[in-house]
Amino acid sequence: MSSALPGYQQAAAQVAAYAARLARLRPSLAVERVALSVAAGRVLALALAADRDQPPFARSTRDGFACRAAEASTHGFLPVSGAIHAGQPPAGPLPTGAAWEIMTGAPVPAGADAVVMVEHVEVDEGRVRLLPERKIPAGDNIVPQGAQARAGDPLLPPGAAITFAQVALAASCGCAQLDVFRRPRVAVLATGDELVAVDSEPAPGQIRNSNAPMLAAMVAAAGGEPWVLPTAADNAAALDRSLAEAAEADLLLISGGVSAGKFDLVEPALARMGARFHFTGVRIQPGKPLVFGELPQIAGHAVPFFGLPGNPVSSAVTFLLFAAPVLAALAGRLEGGPRFALAQLSATTDRRAKPGLTRFLPASCTFGATSGELPEVELVRWQGSGDLAALARSNCFLVIPEAESSLPAGQIVRILLFCAE
Ligand code: AMP
Ligand code: MG
Repeated sequence: MSSALPGYQQAAAQVAAYAARLARLRPSLAVERVALSVAAGRVLALALAADRDQPPFARSTRDGFACRAAEASTHGFLPVSGAIHAGQPPAGPLPTGAAWEIMTGAPVPAGADAVVMVEHVEVDEGRVRLLPERKIPAGDNIVPQGAQARAGDPLLPPGAAITFAQVALAASCGCAQLDVFRRPRVAVLATGDELVAVDSEPAPGQIRNSNAPMLAAMVAAAGGEPWVLPTAADNAAALDRSLAEAAEADLLLISGGVSAGKFDLVEPALARMGARFHFTGVRIQPGKPLVFGELPQIAGHAVPFFGLPGNPVSSAVTFLLFAAPVLAALAGRLEGGPRFALAQLSATTDRRAKPGLTRFLPASCTFGATSGELPEVELVRWQGSGDLAALARSNCFLVIPEAESSLPAGQIVRILLFCAE
């Protein structure tokens, strides 16, 4: 009865509202202190403020000569009354009608209001003049003290994701360590009688459990701490045991066992634990059987769970679309969730239409191919949502809206990026 299921937008909005409620718990999240060198990928727990003005002094952005713009603009020779390079204390003051040799990163001497680039001057026996065809306005090649931030200014709020840029900013503020939120522990429970561990030789009819390592990698990349449980067999007792253990996590990802088959026993097992289901299926392909809900108060808080369809591509798509925003909220991040971008389709899509389903098909996007043009995207040939080789050849999913059956070459389309942050 797929018409009764929520569409992608509706399910996404439901998950976003749930994540927003979780985000309100941010002030109560556990905090730990880490060295700045390992802080990338974490989430800031305490606001970062500027410890001093940035830049801390009026800084030259060029090698050249500090001067008064009005005097330099006469094109007369100015005597060079001193020299300063980066790391020296502020020099000066600059005498009237003079210039001061200066290097990039050095403090501008008091009295100077511009720096003439060394390439734009004529130097003659300790004197310098702006080349006649050049003009220089006041302020040129100087970043005034405090132009980027004033001492005490807020620079980053709690919940900011830490990437290389935030690491650099924190370093400039003297933070050798940062207070970050503890990573949420995400249980990864693969289910299926056919599964064997990666290091086992599959017997006839068996396959290796690839979803657990895949989901663990996705969890880690999205800022969680993966906790991979032993695979659960397709029987009620095994599922009950595994779910009881997994429920100690902050978030529970179950792979497999949520379709309509005879051995798809995950939903009933969750129901036996008192689960509340937010939805049990979404009109998307792949990933239609996705289940989202929460287990009742265990250790004082409800545990959200996703029952991800076992096909690897379905698991990957549903993680990015739905589990990632919840994980981001549990990690204390201000922003998180699926990342979409625009690209231009390089060939008409000719996949069989599945009316009423938003499709997310493995695709390969060439980013930044030609300057000024959109990235180009094309579908990757695949044999359906079990095709791991196709997944590994792709770097995004092409979004085919519910109403479309195929999309023409040249069309601007949406793509779902592989990274969740
Ligand atoms: P299910 O969702 O349990 O009906 O599984 C759908 C398909 O995904 C079946 O072909 C399973 O063998 C496959 N599958 C389920 N779990 C995994 C897993 N952990 N790793 C790889 N394939 C899986
Ligand atoms: Mg199964």
